[in-house]
Amino acid sequence: MTAKVAFLECCACRKRIPGGEIQSHNHCDCGGPLFVRYNLDTIRNTWRRPELTTAPLTMWRYAQVLPAEIEKQIITLGEGMTPILGAVRLGRRIGIPDLWIKDEGRNPTGSSKARGLACAVSMALQTGLMKLAIASTGNAASALAAYTAAAGIEAHVFLPKDARRADIIECKSCGAHLTIVEGSIDDCAARVAELAKTGNWQNVSTLQEPYRLEGEKTMGYEVAEQFHWKLPGVIVYPTGSGLGIVAIWKALEEMEALGWIGSERPRMVAVQPEGCMPLVRAWQEGARQSRPFENPHTVASGLRVPKPPGDFLVLDILRASDGAAVAVSDEEILDAGIALASEDGIFASPEGAACVAALSKLLVDGFWKAGEKVLIYNTGSGLKYSEAYSTRFPATASAEQDKLGGLITPR
Ligand SMILES: *Cc1c(COP(=O)(O)O)cnc(C)c1O
Ligand SMILES: [Zn+2]
Repeated sequence: MTAKVAFLECCACRKRIPGGEIQSHNHCDCGGPLFVRYNLDTIRNTWRRPELTTAPLTMWRYAQVLPAEIEKQIITLGEGMTPILGAVRLGRRIGIPDLWIKDEGRNPTGSSKARGLACAVSMALQTGLMKLAIASTGNAASALAAYTAAAGIEAHVFLPKDARRADIIECKSCGAHLTIVEGSIDDCAARVAELAKTGNWQNVSTLQEPYRLEGEKTMGYEVAEQFHWKLPGVIVYPTGSGLGIVAIWKALEEMEALGWIGSERPRMVAVQPEGCMPLVRAWQEGARQSRPFENPHTVASGLRVPKPPGDFLVLDILRASDGAAVAVSDEEILDAGIALASEDGIFASPEGAACVAALSKLLVDGFWKAGEKVLIYNTGSGLKYSEAYSTRFPATASAEQDKLGGLITPR
């Protein structure tokens, strides 16, 4: 561990683990998630914004605030520095002209999960962990499978029974050991937690170790840099476990400590599907934590997290930023996904599409203020979600495909 890391800090009881002692760490003795804290006062004097002009065009351009030692071996597949695209036609139609999409579907393995797992797997390699296990709704598992394959270490992935075919095939192709679990990601997480107790397994499920969050926070750094250090008024993020939104918020705090941005913050909006909306319910009830959501179901499978491990952290951020939590139906999600694709050519995952669907509710509420710039994270590629979108295009048999495409049979 280089001197850049000061210590790990429990975000529940604030206990500190000194930087020199950092090996592999899961969570605090009290059960709270650990955050990596850096010597930002020192880094601030040695690392300035102009240095980014010569930095790599991946998330590793922010290596000064990532835990892995860049001089040693890191595992990269080119994650990060995804484009921010203008949703010009859709934005104009719905009445939010300054609307932007950060397209995380461009990452390796097709989702933002690549960032966190690139960092966690690099840390595993640098601390000598050879066996990683994860509970996932799909995208985190396929990312783990790809990065561990590149690192030459073992991955054990636990997916719920209704996991997407694309992820299952991707995990198997990358050589991961796959277990399908009856139930939801919470049941998968319980299985992994049990296993992690029994031996030399490192649990890399959400907020069970501190390093995935570090990789994901580069989503926040990039937005500031790509918008020339002027943040949008509103950030909309599809929230499952809560890791993504918590990571973006941490990036904003660090950038302020580095003197890169001021104290102003975007209003953060968490979007969930009506079929699994524990955070929206907690927000509406004014609760500090969520209650497990009953019978969770949604086409936005990355958001099927009945009891988000980061719930209290997300709710704090929504309050601190004067933000909101919004629920949308699966029908609205698919409509919005097809609208974005047909109007602006961006084929989003249902999770990203959920944020597009949420916009009309923010307009009705008067939440969005005229002239404000809005940034949506499209966290995954629509190409991984053929099951979800095929409910709108039920073409599998060739006769159906003929009808859809208006096929002319050659003689
Ligand atoms: C995991 C995931 C999410 C949810 O992110 P969290 O960090 O778990 O809140 C959203 N979209 C996609 C595509 C995902 O894979
Ligand atoms: Zn603690």
